[in-house]
Amino acid sequence: MSDDIAGRKITRRQLLWTPPAALGAALLADAPAYGAGRTIARICRSSWGGKPATGAYVPHQISRITVHHSAVVLRDNRKAPAQLRSFQADHQSRGWPDIAYHMLIDRRGNLYLGRPLSAAGDTNTSYDPTGHLLVLALGNFQVQEIPEAQLNMTVNVLAWACTRYRIAPSAIRGHRAYANTLCPGDRFQRYITDGTVERRVTGRLGTVTLKNLCGDAGRRRVRQIVNGTH
Ligand SMILES: [Zn+2]
Repeated sequence: MSDDIAGRKITRRQLLWTPPAALGAALLADAPAYGAGRTIARICRSSWGGKPATGAYVPHQISRITVHHSAVVLRDNRKAPAQLRSFQADHQSRGWPDIAYHMLIDRRGNLYLGRPLSAAGDTNTSYDPTGHLLVLALGNFQVQEIPEAQLNMTVNVLAWACTRYRIAPSAIRGHRAYANTLCPGDRFQRYITDGTVERRVTGRLGTVTLKNLCGDAGRRRVRQIVNGTH
């Protein structure tokens, strides 16, 4: 069964899950003039030196997306992989099985896999992260601005996730929407509050493909990050 909206055929199924705000973009997503598709590379855990989980994960189904910052000022992006290892060690020392977050983005827009997406995250704050995809940008955005490269990759990740999990871009929230926290920092949160993130994500729905950068390719990429060339 299908309906014809603006001269384009869409299925009943699409109509049922697609929120109105996203519908326009979904209809346009396969139109070449609307912008080429983009492929984003996600660095595997073993490539950044992630350790195996130290306990059992809680499985979940993703139905929300929450944006976070690390709340640790990062100025020299060459330190990003080491910072991820340190966050993981800290989180595992609290009794959590793994680094708390799923998708992590550094200041130059490199993307890293944290906890597997099939596993619920963890938090120190008073909300239940079960069902949330936790997307984290490295830095403290109470103090620093978010660089365009980092914001741009975050938008790509959010667009991929909204498409993959059928979540409306208008439903993306900063951590502070759920708990008493400054996360993800005023200088990041303002782009969520003023609709910038929603607008940019909506424009990329259905256009972002994710590939994993593992093994030698992943290690090579991390070496480039550590020596400042990526
Ligand atoms: Zn947070």
